[in-house]
Amino acid sequence: MQLYNKLSAKERAELIEKAGKDRMTISFYKYAHIGNPEILRNHLFINWDQLDVLGRIYVSYEGINAQLSVPAENFNAFKEHLDTISFLENVRLNVAIEQDNMSFLKLKVKVRDKIVADGLNDESFDVTNKGVHVAAEQFNTLLDDENTILVDMRNHYESEIGHFQGAITPDVDTFRESLPIIEDDLKDHKEDKNLVMYCTGGIRCEKASAYFKHKGFKNVFQLEGGIINYARQVEEQNLENKFIGKNFVFDHRRGERISEDIIANCHQCGKPCDTHVNCANEACHLLFIQCEECAEKMNDCCSDACKEVHSLPADVQKELRKGKEVSNKIFKKGRSEVLKYKK
Ligand SMILES: [Zn+2]
Ligand SMILES: [Zn+2]
Repeated sequence: MQLYNKLSAKERAELIEKAGKDRMTISFYKYAHIGNPEILRNHLFINWDQLDVLGRIYVSYEGINAQLSVPAENFNAFKEHLDTISFLENVRLNVAIEQDNMSFLKLKVKVRDKIVADGLNDESFDVTNKGVHVAAEQFNTLLDDENTILVDMRNHYESEIGHFQGAITPDVDTFRESLPIIEDDLKDHKEDKNLVMYCTGGIRCEKASAYFKHKGFKNVFQLEGGIINYARQVEEQNLENKFIGKNFVFDHRRGERISEDIIANCHQCGKPCDTHVNCANEACHLLFIQCEECAEKMNDCCSDACKEVHSLPADVQKELRKGKEVSNKIFKKGRSEVLKYKK
C-alpha cells in the first residue's frame, strides 16, 4: 500500500501543466471526535491519492482541517467519498473563487494534536458542542439587535484592515489570548445578551463558541463559513454588506477587498492604506502595512536598519543570518517599535 507521495513538487507541477486540466482549490474543516486519527489519515490518503487530490490536511482527535486541490473532473467522486465518512457527510466545502492549478503540489495528510494551532489546552470542554451557525442574512438581523455583542475572533493585524461595523476587535496576537479578555468583558451578560462571533473562515469561532458555552454563555452564535462565505452570500443574495474594509487572507494575496473603505494607515507615514507587506530583509520579514511611496523610499523594508542589510550582496546577508532565527516571522506579526503609525 502506498501511503506517501512518490512525486516531487517539480514533477507534479510538470504533470499538471501537461494534463492542462482545471483543478479546484477547496477547503473544509470539521470538529468531531476521532477515535484513531492514524487510521483516518491512511484511509484518506489512499482514497484521495487515487482521485489525484493534492493538499495539506490535518487530522487529529478533535477533527479534520483540509486545504485541497481537486481535479475538476473528479470533484463529484471526491464529494461522494466524503459522504461515505459519516462525520463528513454534507460537510460545507469552501471553493476558492480564483483558479489556481498549482495551489498544492503534494498530498500531505498529517496527524496532529490539533486541527488548528490555537494554543488552547483545555480538555474539559466538548468542541462539538458549538454555538448556533448563522448565515449572512440572519447574521445581519442579529447585528441589528441591540442585545447583540459582536466579537471579532481574529488577531489585531487582521481586524486592523477590515471588520464588521460595531465589532469588538481584541488587540491580541493569538486566538488563545482573546478568550479570557472577552470572557471578562462580557461576564455580566452571559444570559441576557447574544454573543455573536466571526473569523476568517469559521474554524476559530467554532471552537470559541464551544468554549464560551462551556463558560456559561447562553446565546452563542457564529457566522457560518466566516467572512469569506459572508461576502459571497452578500453578493449572491444582494444583502446589505456590514463588513468594512479588507478581509485578511493567509495566501499570497494577503487581503480580499470587501468594501471600498480603507480603515487602516501606513505604519510608516500614517496615510490611509491597507496593504500588508513583509519586510524585504530576509532576516526580518516583519508583517506590516506600507504605502507605495514608503515602499519605494524604504526599499520595501520596515526600518533603516533593515534597508541597510537588504542593500548588501545576497551572500553577505546570508552570512549575517547564519545561526539566527527569523523571529519576526513567527512572533511579531505587525508589531515593532520601528512602526510609528501602528495604532
Ligand atoms: Zn507610507
Ligand atoms: Zn525589517
